[in-house]
Amino acid sequence: MRTRIPFLDLAMTSDSERKDLLAAMERVLVHGRLILGPEVTELEHRVAAFCGRKYAVGVGSGSDALFLSLKSLGIGPGDEVITTSLSWIATANAIALAGATPVFADIRNDLNIDPASVQRLITPQTKALIPVHFTGRMCDMPALTAIADRHGVAVVEDAAQAFGASTDGRISGSVGVLAALSMNAMKVFASCGEAGMVLTDRADLHDRLLVLRYNGMIKRQECVTPSLNGRLDTLQAAILLHRLGAVDRIIEKRRQLARYYNDALSLVVQVPEEAEGERVVYYTYTIRADRRDDLKAFLEERGIETQIHHPYLMAMQPAYRDWTRGEWTNAERLIGRVLCLPVHEKLSFEEVRYVASAVREFYKTHAALARISGGVC
Ligand SMILES: *Cc1c(COP(=O)(O)O)cnc(C)c1O
Repeated sequence: MRTRIPFLDLAMTSDSERKDLLAAMERVLVHGRLILGPEVTELEHRVAAFCGRKYAVGVGSGSDALFLSLKSLGIGPGDEVITTSLSWIATANAIALAGATPVFADIRNDLNIDPASVQRLITPQTKALIPVHFTGRMCDMPALTAIADRHGVAVVEDAAQAFGASTDGRISGSVGVLAALSMNAMKVFASCGEAGMVLTDRADLHDRLLVLRYNGMIKRQECVTPSLNGRLDTLQAAILLHRLGAVDRIIEKRRQLARYYNDALSLVVQVPEEAEGERVVYYTYTIRADRRDDLKAFLEERGIETQIHHPYLMAMQPAYRDWTRGEWTNAERLIGRVLCLPVHEKLSFEEVRYVASAVREFYKTHAALARISGGVC
């Protein structure tokens, strides 16, 4: 066992995987079509099939995928886009960069957007809803889709953390009119750098996205709309094609580690529960804990690296706090309690056992101290 348990371990420790990836990259370097090469097209077809969609468009990052999705829908100044209050800031940035106003909805205790809050925040200006499948768990898509449909609002899934997640057999990325994936190096389905994808079933949106990801150019001559260069490069696509074959095994390993944590920790902290029919992919394994900051420091002393996703709600960021609206009472309470334990697929069961026993030890010590001090704590 390692003396320090890192939150993430991106070094390629498997010789056979390294050999396979080098061979895949070698093929690209030899054919030389480094941008939008044949591996990009093949990956688009395979990811679309994996997620049960007609089209996938490879882009430079998950951030590009979100931004270009909104642009393809024609969303811009004067429009409001509702999203969750708790996400990686890229979600809000995509809305703001499109020129629209982000509106932040509250979350449920599972850390995903609360449909009741979404319903309250809808106005005639609401053009889109971006549910984020946070931590690798799908949002309540039936409820959200029903609300969106009733108000003529487009649903764009932010599935950056949830590749391969599903609920009742419905896979993430297959529900919204568009869905954004990220395959950056830290995600469950990861490249060795930056990569993203947009999924859709609509031919018109697919065609628009092809133009939008290449500076708004048609036939490399005519710029029909200002946009950015958001193309997926071929080396990353080659790496992803190789890794797609391993993604179900990676998800299964993460789910096993999560089950182990659940069994070991459910009496001392609030563990992420899975409902019947849910397949959570555990981009993060996020507990809700009393005395969270003390627990984090206690684990750090024992060589265990943890993270807080996220210490700030998006609406609290300096870039947003003065000009957006929304509701986030429950979210504000929860960000003081969340802690992500290491759950990456390279962890051994021995290491996870060590992490879990350290968490239990913290609360045992804490309970003993509380008894000595007369239970006031
Ligand atoms: C990672 C992530 C993104 C952005 O993806 P990048 O590829 O890093 O640009 C967007 N939304 C969420 C929820 C993410 O976790």
